[in-house]
Amino acid sequence: MKKPRLMTPGPAPVPEDVLLEMARPIIHHRSAEAKQVITDCAAGLKYTFQTQNDVLILTASGTGALEAALVNTVARGQKVIVLNAGWFAQRWQKIAQAYGIEVVSLDFEWGQAVEPAQLEAALKQYPDTVMVCATLSETSTGTGHPIEEIGKIVARTNAVLAVDGISGIGAMECRTDSWGIDLLCVGSQKALMLPPGLGFIAVSPKAWAKIDAFDAPAYYFNLKAARKKMVDFDTPYTPAHTLLMGLRVALRRIQDEGIEQVWDRHRRMSEACQAGIQALGLELFSARPAEGLTAFRVPEGFKEGDIRGKLSDRFGITTVGGQDKLKGKIVRIGHMGYFDELDVVAGLAALEMVLCDLGYKVVPGIAVTAAQKVLLSAKA
Ligand SMILES: *Cc1c(COP(=O)(O)O)cnc(C)c1O
Repeated sequence: MKKPRLMTPGPAPVPEDVLLEMARPIIHHRSAEAKQVITDCAAGLKYTFQTQNDVLILTASGTGALEAALVNTVARGQKVIVLNAGWFAQRWQKIAQAYGIEVVSLDFEWGQAVEPAQLEAALKQYPDTVMVCATLSETSTGTGHPIEEIGKIVARTNAVLAVDGISGIGAMECRTDSWGIDLLCVGSQKALMLPPGLGFIAVSPKAWAKIDAFDAPAYYFNLKAARKKMVDFDTPYTPAHTLLMGLRVALRRIQDEGIEQVWDRHRRMSEACQAGIQALGLELFSARPAEGLTAFRVPEGFKEGDIRGKLSDRFGITTVGGQDKLKGKIVRIGHMGYFDELDVVAGLAALEMVLCDLGYKVVPGIAVTAAQKVLLSAKA
């Protein structure tokens, strides 16, 4: 017998009470009951995102929210700056290019955090920039970016700040309003503890001013249409309301624990996982690790597929490897959302055994001990 353990940075595990809620009989999406679900979700999302801005619900994966942010705000031929330090940051660039938007790409080495000073210089060089596209947690490299500092820089300009918070929200500190995030884009299947299928976008007054002044070539992802319906806790088209019923339960969990406690739990899990990885003599990939996942380099002489394959075959643990130019070079372990400290300890114990099995020189228990030391010293 093997228990399935989904330790990937999305999709991530879904709690039993959320699953059970979604197994209830289907309701009509224009009923008073459905309106109440959306009303409760709107309040829970605002709390989770730490915003008073409008939060709109889209039936799409997270990428739909990224596309909505761009296509509603920036016209063909206008300019955006993309803070480019990984596979998901590149998605901003690709979506913009698909709409004929001009992209200034500030490239940083994968695994490094973006440098706010370079953005500041670029905004001086390109004062006609309409939007800065950033990533809270770059899932491809396991890196957390300094959004608070970036927000201060962008706030002094006419540009709006759009942030891909898809794997960051619910795992890492993010204060949408006080950090000056104008368009926060989120998806359901990461730290929000739901299956894939919902996208969210929080829109600031500064962003609305641009959106309202622009006749966007958007129909399904038209944010003005979504705002008009959301005033009455409704959506323009049939929402994935079964997922919204689950979302209400997932958000209740976050509200009951408290968002700061949720961030603290992820910080502890992240620090414990990093300590365990380093105790094994493995190298963390990121210079500024994100808190919902940990990425490490595949050690010399070993194969990523062997490590991940054995984790799966022997312990039922699913992890992911690297994307694009990191294929075969790194292993990424997710610990976002429905995870606790013991899940991380178990994951490290499995990794030790798998590495032993593969002939890597390791004293069993060394990673677990290092993680326990972190967890003992941290206040829970
Ligand atoms: C998962 C992820 C995405 C992609 O989201 P989809 O839901 O697959 O569209 C985009 N950005 C980041 C940072 C992610 O982690």
